[in-house]
Order: sequence, then structure tokens, then C-alpha cells
Amino acid sequence: MIGEVTEVSSFFENEPQGFKSDNIFVNACLICKTNLNPLATLKELKNIEKKMGRKKNNGVYKDRIIDLDIIFFDKLIYNSDKLTIPHKEYKNRSFVLIPLKELSPFLEN
Ligand code: ADP
Ligand code: MG
Repeated sequence: MIGEVTEVSSFFENEPQGFKSDNIFVNACLICKTNLNPLATLKELKNIEKKMGRKKNNGVYKDRIIDLDIIFFDKLIYNSDKLTIPHKEYKNRSFVLIPLKELSPFLEN
């Protein structure tokens, strides 16, 4: 259990970026309150991915049943070999930026 989900964006259908697939990808962002620290949160996300049937991809980009990433963790800046916060690639990924903008901390007027 990570905590209470307080906001969820729309679900956006996208073509996979960076590789070819017959499948459409669905992307969304959410906000979750938690008492866990960042590494414990990542561990829980991986547990959820595993329970949902995610297979190891051994560093190769391919279809996955689920991918749960941490984009921000309050205002924290964190760097280790297991975890980088803010997420290293989010600025380059429209499939993250577009749903992110629907959440209240990121709303633009
Ligand atoms: P990707 O998310 O790039 O498709 P994975 O889900 O397999 O690939 O993640 C690869 C590794 O990236 C994870 O095992 C995790 O240790 C690391 N990682 C580093 N920063 C983050 C982050 N902000 N959110 C999620 N995983 C991260
Ligand atoms: Mg991931």
C-alpha cells in the first residue's frame, strides 16, 4: 500500500515511442499521498507491476502490461543508481507532460 490517490488524469492513447509495436499504449498521471520514503515507494510500485503480470524486460524497450514511474516526489531532488527524482526523461515525453498538465499542481492558465 502506497497511500491515497487524490487525483487521476485522463487516459491518453499513444503510439509507442522509440520502438514499433502492434499495440496502442495508454498513459496517465496521478497524485498519491504517502508516508513511504522514495525508495520504499519505488519498491511498492514494482510489487504492483509484478502482481499485474509485468515481465522483466532486461533493459530492452518493449510492450509492457504496466509501467509505474515516479515523476515528482514533492519538491525532492534525489539521485541514486536505483532512482532519480524528478524522473530523468519526463521533460522529453509528451505522453507524460500532457496528462501531468491536468493535475492541479501543474495546471496552466
Ligand atoms: P522504464 O520505466 O524506463 O520503462 P523500468 O520500469 O524497467 O523501465 O525501470 C527501470 C529502472 O529505472 C527501475 O528498475 C528503477 O530502478 C529505475 N528508476 C530510476 N528512476 C526512476 C523513477 N523516477 N521512477 C521509476 N523507476 C525509476
Ligand atoms: Mg518504469
